[in-house]
Amino acid sequence: MPYSGVINKYLEYLPFKEDVQPVTLLEGNTPLLEADNLRKELDAPCKIFLKFEGANPTGSFKDRGMTVAITEAVRKKAEAVICASTGNTSASAAAYAAKAGLQAFVILPKGKIAIGKLAQALIYGAKVIEIDGNFDDALRIVREIGDKTNVEIVNSINPFRIEGQKTASFEIIETLGTSPTHHSLPVGNAGNITAYWKGYKEWASRKHTPLPKMLGFQAEGSAPIVHGKIVEHPETVATAIRIGNPASWKQAVQALDESKGQISIATDSEILEAQRLIARTEGIFCEPASASSVAGLIKLIREGYFTVKDVVVCTLTGNGLKDPDTASRGIAAPLSAPASLLEVLNLMNIK
Ligand SMILES: *Cc1c(COP(=O)(O)O)cnc(C)c1O
Repeated sequence: MPYSGVINKYLEYLPFKEDVQPVTLLEGNTPLLEADNLRKELDAPCKIFLKFEGANPTGSFKDRGMTVAITEAVRKKAEAVICASTGNTSASAAAYAAKAGLQAFVILPKGKIAIGKLAQALIYGAKVIEIDGNFDDALRIVREIGDKTNVEIVNSINPFRIEGQKTASFEIIETLGTSPTHHSLPVGNAGNITAYWKGYKEWASRKHTPLPKMLGFQAEGSAPIVHGKIVEHPETVATAIRIGNPASWKQAVQALDESKGQISIATDSEILEAQRLIARTEGIFCEPASASSVAGLIKLIREGYFTVKDVVVCTLTGNGLKDPDTASRGIAAPLSAPASLLEVLNLMNIK
């Protein structure tokens, strides 16, 4: 059977009946790549796999949750859908709403969205409203609109989002033949770490697979869970995890406790360095937030946290093409030469 999206693939694990009509762009089924070059470069004892969620239709893992949330919104006959977003949720909501023939409304923190993500929301036909405030302010407004109207919230506080996102765990287990020993993720609103843990637990209870330890990483300037305290003015180059008051805070702490995992910090410079390292060694261009899963992994490797028996999966949550500005800042500009064979050969420095 041809692949037909995460709802059809994992229907028995999702809160739908057989007759569901999925709104899908054929999300999921993303590459799980063994990162041997990265392993060598880091002199890591453990195996490292990268789950590249940037290969989803709108370029981030949000599509797994959005197919489920928008399918449910259509089933419930919602009038429209709305989300607050640091960028990727809005791109995904706008695309799936377009496919469903629903209007999407997007509330964004002004000036803090990567350019590619904003362009996506607009071209898919969402009505985009920028507010003078941060993500947490945007989410507060969205929650109130959801309470007062028949407009469906498709942020990760919508449980259908989490249901869809947990399918990434299923794919990993099916590809590896078992669970990894550790799973590393960036943490913003903490919906994704909650979803992965739910997925690992549900698969384990049916198929008796072992449970991994969950490893979460927040950016230094927006690390409320690490510090156990709301951050009023979160700051980081990794805009997708620029969150001061995570919506799924409690569930994330539960996932970390139950799995005997841990959450810690990656600095902006560690994040950007990891982003370039992943690109240079493995040929994968992920966005800064995504690279925090590898930045954190690098620290733990240096602390001697892993053994040769360990198999670590890092989720690369989104596609680097969404935020070319940030990526270009840290790298050398192109060389330039006159249109002359000799001059070009000279610059190539090949004998
Ligand atoms: C949304 C997002 C995150 C954070 O996920 P949460 O579920 O909010 O913790 C990380 N990286 C990217 C690229 C994202 O779009």
